[in-house]
Amino acid sequence: MKIEQQKRYRAWAEIDLSALEHNVNVVRGNLPSQTAFMAVVKANAYGHGDEAICKKLWELGVQWFAVSNLEEALAVRSFCPYSEIFILGYTPPEFAPELARNNIIQGVVSTEYAKQLQQFAHQPVRCHLKIDTGMGRIGFRYNTPDDCAAALKPLFGLEKLSIEGVYTHFAVADSMMPNDMMYTNNQQDFIIAIYDKLKESGCPVKHLHFMNSAATILRPNPRATLARVGIVMYGLQPNYMETDIRIPLKPVMSLRSVVSQVKTIQEGDSISYGRMYIAPSPRKIATVTIGYADGYARLLSNRAQAILHGKRCLVVGRVCMDQLMLDVTDVPTEIKPGDVVTMFGTDGNETITADELASIYDTIGYEVVCGISKRVPRDTINCNV
Ligand SMILES: *Cc1c(COP(=O)(O)O)cnc(C)c1O
Repeated sequence: MKIEQQKRYRAWAEIDLSALEHNVNVVRGNLPSQTAFMAVVKANAYGHGDEAICKKLWELGVQWFAVSNLEEALAVRSFCPYSEIFILGYTPPEFAPELARNNIIQGVVSTEYAKQLQQFAHQPVRCHLKIDTGMGRIGFRYNTPDDCAAALKPLFGLEKLSIEGVYTHFAVADSMMPNDMMYTNNQQDFIIAIYDKLKESGCPVKHLHFMNSAATILRPNPRATLARVGIVMYGLQPNYMETDIRIPLKPVMSLRSVVSQVKTIQEGDSISYGRMYIAPSPRKIATVTIGYADGYARLLSNRAQAILHGKRCLVVGRVCMDQLMLDVTDVPTEIKPGDVVTMFGTDGNETITADELASIYDTIGYEVVCGISKRVPRDTINCNV
């Protein structure tokens, strides 16, 4: 970023499009040749900024995009006019004409919903049928693939639905525990059986998809025509994965802020609300212009580290709405207002990941990046340009 621009910002998220390119290439290298890459860009591309991310992905040859709702779908349609856009979540059936007009594919979760879409549509709505094979969230839920396929068959008679695929979502694909792996196998067998049974009974569909990031990395399956890839594209670990997955990912987002003031405090002096931090000895403290209103969680108070001049420093005292304090006593270089602080990302030889922060307050990297708030500008960089 240009220095003048940086001075205006109190905190910003740096979005590295060359890291995105790297991750897409790594994931694609792991996919069976039959399986196309569907980029999951819901929630403003996991907080990274959907416009820059979608445009870059399209440039990289990604044609499929998944979002959570119509609003997001229309945004992607404006960035990538010729892409295939898939809505994973609920769209009120009244919007069937809007879906068709914008050539958006809708996930259909029940017979009732299918009939409602049929009722409101003027022209055929493209859709994939969502089967709940064990996630317990949305979808057709039956005990056996036979029962399920039998229930789906009549939907092919609805002339305002253009059914092009079936799909499901895994609950524990990120786990290598034997029971969890068996659970995922069962989910996978179930959806594949439905796909095959529909074909046998004269209702073939083109697409079959079930892999998320974890499954794409740990158990790529050539039966899938599409893989729905989210978190690893952004360079973070799938949900609960305890051991780092063995592919070289690069985090796309870094979060940076600046020092506003530096001071020295004496032994026994306290820092911030609640006086949670009491200096054990004279300390040098830097105030930084980022807080929980930016999405830097208050649960990180007195626990997380940030990087200043290539050195890790502890966040001391409570994180405030717009500011926090760092113990910079051990940073040997001179610190001035305006110096850049890396909340997560790389500075010199030190790296803090969103996953590291997530583990401190018992969540997942997904929530950290999605939680970076709207007032934090997204600043794209592209090392390849
Ligand atoms: C969010 C989502 C994904 C992507 O999950 P990752 O773990 O980020 O890869 C895939 N499928 C569905 C249905 C989702 O909701």
